[in-house]
Amino acid sequence: MNQVNLRRKTMPVRVGNITIGGGAPISVQSMTTIATSQTDEVVDQIIRIARAGGEIVRLTTPARRDAENLKAIKEQLLALGCDTPIVADVHFNAEVALVAALYVDKVRINPGNWGDKERFRELIAICKERGVAIRIGVNHGSLSSQIVELYGDTPRGMVESAMEFLRVAREEEFDQVVVSFKSSNTRTMIEAYRAGVRAMDDEGFATPLHLGVTEAGEGIEGRIKSAVGIGALLIDGIGDTIRVSLTEEPENEIPAAFEILQASRARISKTEVISCPGCGRTMYDLQGTTRAVKERFKDRAGLKIAVMGCIVNGPGEMADADYGYVGSGVGVVTLYKNGEVVERNVPQEEALDRLEFIIHNS
Ligand code: SF4
Repeated sequence: MNQVNLRRKTMPVRVGNITIGGGAPISVQSMTTIATSQTDEVVDQIIRIARAGGEIVRLTTPARRDAENLKAIKEQLLALGCDTPIVADVHFNAEVALVAALYVDKVRINPGNWGDKERFRELIAICKERGVAIRIGVNHGSLSSQIVELYGDTPRGMVESAMEFLRVAREEEFDQVVVSFKSSNTRTMIEAYRAGVRAMDDEGFATPLHLGVTEAGEGIEGRIKSAVGIGALLIDGIGDTIRVSLTEEPENEIPAAFEILQASRARISKTEVISCPGCGRTMYDLQGTTRAVKERFKDRAGLKIAVMGCIVNGPGEMADADYGYVGSGVGVVTLYKNGEVVERNVPQEEALDRLEFIIHNS
């Protein structure tokens, strides 16, 4: 089953040279960790994120001077040949958002602490004129007191918080909007996104979604937490752009994001190696071979190669793979293409070259 075909249909939203939604590849974003007033350091960090594969970069923009400095940052990036779209993360200060919108490709606001809807209309007017997108970024931890009073601190409250602002955007005939429903609790976050999709469908909004688990942590915990939250939704067909938040250097978020996209088959960017864990039936160097296969075929995005320890269970377990490398005796391997044997009992030392030959001549 190809999950890509099951993606929820959304409206394309332009963010500089990247499209979010509308069937565009799911984009990967990150966020700088340096004060936005420090131009050179921020520009360096954006370039590091872009080199790692980050396609959109967000910058915290708490005060007017940060918003004004976005102009210098954008100019310096362009002068250095970096056209990665930048996003001002404003939260609640309308004055700051109105200035930031003059220089960036997208503005993120938090409906939980934004307040005045009239100021949102003013922001929309500038964004409309300049071709700037807006993210309505709901955070579980910062819902407005009115929302909490009406719906509690719940996924429903998160959804209502976004819907109020989406309706204003609709009144202003502005559809360049992305929505997020983040929480540090993966269950709350998943529930909120699913409920958000239902509410948007009910009211005819095809708004793209930005997925993320907030405060996911660092190391393996942060990556697994993000994979659980983001991955579950991607497999539902939900999500148009993702951010893996890690308490690490921001460029570290990018490989983790691509692994989640690949593992959920939401965006394929490299060869997929399917390998069994090995057991008493394995009669060759399975771990070393798996590493060698990964390395040799790493640039064949879309290709699925199985490396299986034994001929008893291997062929059945690798049904999804295009090619198979299956141990068939002591130090010998049988090679498969689309589930059919191509060469039987090849000595292990020759098998990788034979597999490469078969792939190249297919
Ligand atoms: S495929 Fe064969 S070698 Fe691999 S785990 Fe299964 S039984 Fe063991």
